[in-house]
Amino acid sequence: MLGQMQNRPLALPHVFHRAEQMFGHKTITGIGVGGAVTTDTYANWATRVRRTAAALEKLGVSHDARVGTFCWNTPVHLELYFAVPCTGRVLHTLNIRLFPEQLVYIVNHADDEVIFVERALFGMLWPLADQMPHVRKFVVIDDGSDTDVPDDERIVDHAELLASVEPFTGQFVVDDENRAAAMCYTSGTTGNPKGVVYSHRSTVLHSIAVLIADVVGIVERDVLLPIVPMFHANAWGTPYAAVFCGASLVMPGPNMVPKAIAGMLRDHDVTVTAGVPTIWMGVLPELERADVPHLRLVLCGGSAVPRSLSEGWREKVGLPITQAWGMTETSPIATTGMLRSVHDGHSDDELADVRATQGQATPLVELRLADPDTGEILPWDGQSSGELQAAGPWIADSYYLNEDGGKQFTADGWLRTGDVAIIDASGYVRLVDRTKDLVKSGGEWISSVDMENQIMGMPEVAEAAVIAIPDEKWSERPMACVVVREGKELTAEQVKKYLASKVAKWQIPDDVVFIDEVPKTSTGKFSKKTLREKFAAERG
Ligand code: ADP
Repeated sequence: MLGQMQNRPLALPHVFHRAEQMFGHKTITGIGVGGAVTTDTYANWATRVRRTAAALEKLGVSHDARVGTFCWNTPVHLELYFAVPCTGRVLHTLNIRLFPEQLVYIVNHADDEVIFVERALFGMLWPLADQMPHVRKFVVIDDGSDTDVPDDERIVDHAELLASVEPFTGQFVVDDENRAAAMCYTSGTTGNPKGVVYSHRSTVLHSIAVLIADVVGIVERDVLLPIVPMFHANAWGTPYAAVFCGASLVMPGPNMVPKAIAGMLRDHDVTVTAGVPTIWMGVLPELERADVPHLRLVLCGGSAVPRSLSEGWREKVGLPITQAWGMTETSPIATTGMLRSVHDGHSDDELADVRATQGQATPLVELRLADPDTGEILPWDGQSSGELQAAGPWIADSYYLNEDGGKQFTADGWLRTGDVAIIDASGYVRLVDRTKDLVKSGGEWISSVDMENQIMGMPEVAEAAVIAIPDEKWSERPMACVVVREGKELTAEQVKKYLASKVAKWQIPDDVVFIDEVPKTSTGKFSKKTLREKFAAERG
């Protein structure tokens, strides 16, 4: 027999209407160009969402259109986060750090009909406009900057557009929860970027998961500062989750320097924040325990969180970092590193080891390890390492227009993450490496991530990236590219000597080179591809 429960769509209009009705007095603060602070209420935000919905109609944007955004984390971006999907259209967040060719490719591939762009970013987008023939309108958002905007029939002023319409007054309706709500392209470290299409259902379920205490646990009393960009996997879904529960939001805008971020954490009594490791490395020297008494959760992911970074935060700010793992394809939160009762009684040192893992699977996310050669499913024994595969209601089942021909999905529908991991008996996942970053030396695997973590444990080291260098005898050998902290000195011999007590002798890199900075991808991760190209070229 069937259950007899109402089958109501899990869709974003519910999240919007709930916030509008219940949290009108809560606040959304924006930090603009030059640090200007504006604070508004959810009630006014909701009216502007309704105005934007009417504006999309006025512009004649078709009902199934992809609507691009080229924006930082701002209150206006949050309006678009709801106005676009609540009217059935698809929010397409564009990564402002992409190379022009990639941007053109993505806009054309997704067939964006209109793009909302902040004025300070307009100069990056407009020169490409002629290569984006399907984009009918560029809506320019005033952000206080004075970038030149030419006279062109494709250009619309956002403020004038909103002022020219009356807010939509009805209830938003999305009948089919499987309808697309948003899309985001992977950064394309291999081949062309691929489009991941989130549905209303996946977005709502992912938001609920973010609200679970053992996952992230955002609540109404929180003040959320999302540093991770809203153009990168929806800022890890945190804006949707915050609006769902009525938490206050602080939107950092373009102010991404560590001092400014530390100032926001301090001045706005932020309780929860999220960003990639490089951000928290930069912010740590700017903060003391007394500056941020309200801060209770620093969520960090996107790349491995060095144990030394989390411990640095614990020692200096009194709050270790909480690690999360995921991908654009997993909405993205798939694991988080909350501690459980199994860790009661652990020493600080042991707890630091647990925090250096990627944590446990979120409810509704299933994980498994597969032998990369045979496909055999491996046990969760804390030893067997294999390719991490994921399944669940907010995990992609294919790419937009099936761009990879299904290669990244198994025959039984699981996502092949391209990460290599070990899972222990209580379900904590430890990422060993990305498949393509592992170093294979003399038939044995070396984890570049482990080696980097070790090196970053040296007090003189700011950053370290380990890459594979082709080697005639061993096929590959590790090379360490090290950034020394300002005012410190370090030699290759010292690094090797330090590693000698930490890793097996054959794993110690033959080469340790010193660089000014580890090159980063558009999403702030170490770009080992760039390093490999550079050093392979130097050797060739
Ligand atoms: P890409 O970098 O491929 O464009 P994503 O931004 O979606 O795509 O990144 C997903 C990848 O980032 C994961 O497959 C994993 O390799 C890495 N990653 C994410 N979180 C973590 C983490 N906490 N620790 C280590 N690696 C991580």
